[in-house]
Amino acid sequence: MQRTIHSIIKSIPTLEGAGFIVHRPFPTAALEQFDPFLLLDRMGPVTLRAGEAKGAPDHPHRGFETVTYVLEGAIEHKDSRGNHGFIRSGDVQWMTAGAGVVHSEMPSTEIQQHGGRMDGFQLWVNLPRRDKMMKPRYQELPSASIPTVTANGATVRVIAGEGARIETRTPIVYLHVKLAAGASFEQRVPEDFNVFAYSLAEDQAILFNRDGDRVVLRARDDAPAEFLLIGGRPINEPIARYGPFVMTSEAEIIRAIRDYQDGRMGEIDF
Ligand code: MN
Repeated sequence: MQRTIHSIIKSIPTLEGAGFIVHRPFPTAALEQFDPFLLLDRMGPVTLRAGEAKGAPDHPHRGFETVTYVLEGAIEHKDSRGNHGFIRSGDVQWMTAGAGVVHSEMPSTEIQQHGGRMDGFQLWVNLPRRDKMMKPRYQELPSASIPTVTANGATVRVIAGEGARIETRTPIVYLHVKLAAGASFEQRVPEDFNVFAYSLAEDQAILFNRDGDRVVLRARDDAPAEFLLIGGRPINEPIARYGPFVMTSEAEIIRAIRDYQDGRMGEIDF
């Protein structure tokens, strides 16, 4: 059975990091979270002038995963475990913060100095209680290694889910779907998954009811369409959240703040 639409959540322009605009469907007043998803930010699309680009300098995370998908531009990342790299157009970085990491996410030096286009997404995926204190890890997916399927006017990049290279801690599907005018795409999803689509043209999230095992996306006859299709099995555990820390209780949050302040999540020293 095809899932029906529960609601449509418009993104709210929000200031992030050192002061760059993101378009955020959640968390907002309309939607706190969508278990197991805690946040979605669209970073752009924006054309930046020289000296205008801002990023997110050194900050910690604990208890969940950040998934960065760059569509245009490049983000340079560094972290307290000595990792350093670039996420460029079409690349995905799946970071499991687990017990804690301090990282920086900045537009590349070239974009900072000369300006340029930036667009992309960051999704926060919650971790179940058993994994919140796991060892941090990265999964890097260069654009060329993302499986892509084209059929009947639909081009689908498989970031997570069946056939994907990413190992997720709980079952997740994450697809980037491009549709030619009039084309449609159908995806089978487990009945217990929470599923939403994000329309890139309209900057809004379409939440589906949990009333079927298929989701259908369709482009209007007169225009192409582009969506992220994201779903996952709800974790159904309490959520205590404070800024960059997402745990299951107040006590764990206090512990996270203390561990960060005491330097137990490390620092970026290069
Ligand atoms: Mn971050």
